[in-house]
Amino acid sequence: MTIVKTIEEVRAQVRAWRAQGLTVGLVPTMGYLHEGHQSLIARSVAENDRTVVSDFVNPIQFGPTEDLATYPRDIARDAALCEATGADLIFHPEADEMYAPDFCTYVDMDRLTGGLCGKTRPTHFRGVCTVVSKLFHIVQPDRAYFGQKDAQQLAVIRRMVRDLNMPLEIIGCPIVREADGLAKSSRNTYLNEAERQAALCLSRGLAKGKAAVEAGETDAAKVRAVIAGEIEAEPLSRIDYVELVDWNTLEPVDSTEGSILAAVAVYIGKTRLIDNFIIER
Ligand code: AMP
Repeated sequence: MTIVKTIEEVRAQVRAWRAQGLTVGLVPTMGYLHEGHQSLIARSVAENDRTVVSDFVNPIQFGPTEDLATYPRDIARDAALCEATGADLIFHPEADEMYAPDFCTYVDMDRLTGGLCGKTRPTHFRGVCTVVSKLFHIVQPDRAYFGQKDAQQLAVIRRMVRDLNMPLEIIGCPIVREADGLAKSSRNTYLNEAERQAALCLSRGLAKGKAAVEAGETDAAKVRAVIAGEIEAEPLSRIDYVELVDWNTLEPVDSTEGSILAAVAVYIGKTRLIDNFIIER
């Protein structure tokens, strides 16, 4: 496995693989890898001849008051995890390799990006769509792997690929959790011991909401109240949103019939965590 920092090196490697008729999978990440990322890498390794992992904390998807400066980074640890999982190449550029000083071209989306995380992070998905488009152009993979952990991001990327006729397949992968239910996240490292315990209210609330739907509850407002009630009972929590939306349009729903995404964003202390479940019927 090799680590490269320039776009030209990625292109040269992928060209060499293509000349041999090999297929290529891409796993875009912001690094500080955990078993959630690892599950995406393992799936790509299983489904493609070669796997590229991008490891880049993308500045343009962070808002001015967000955690860009403190976002955890550890490329040596990431490299060991990628190597152990069978990845072939890590693309680890500096920000100035990806963005020229006079960079001014963005990929933006009218729908899907205004609600959920887009409400409090108005420039986030423009940053995500732009960097993911750039990565697709640089690597030109056959398949790219995204976690359902970031469900809105997965829906947005799928729509971008469809709308802009990008020639690759998007593979969504299930959420990987800690043994006690907390969704794995690089940001979990911000939590102190009390917050780590408190953070369980997200998965607990969602599990209760999912059980209500499975028991036949079709009123979305009631399911929402079950989830929010469990989270609000935790003193260290502050809800950003608890929403039930259509999994294809991300528009709010009144009924839980159809394919539904139940998504939450919750501050535990200063740390903002997200989690969700999808019921597809
Ligand atoms: P990030 O490094 O947070 O940008 O995440 C990179 C990719 O890993 C995204 O597609 C995420 O959805 C995915 N991912 C992050 N955490 C998890 C998890 N716990 N389970 C599955 N996928 C995850």
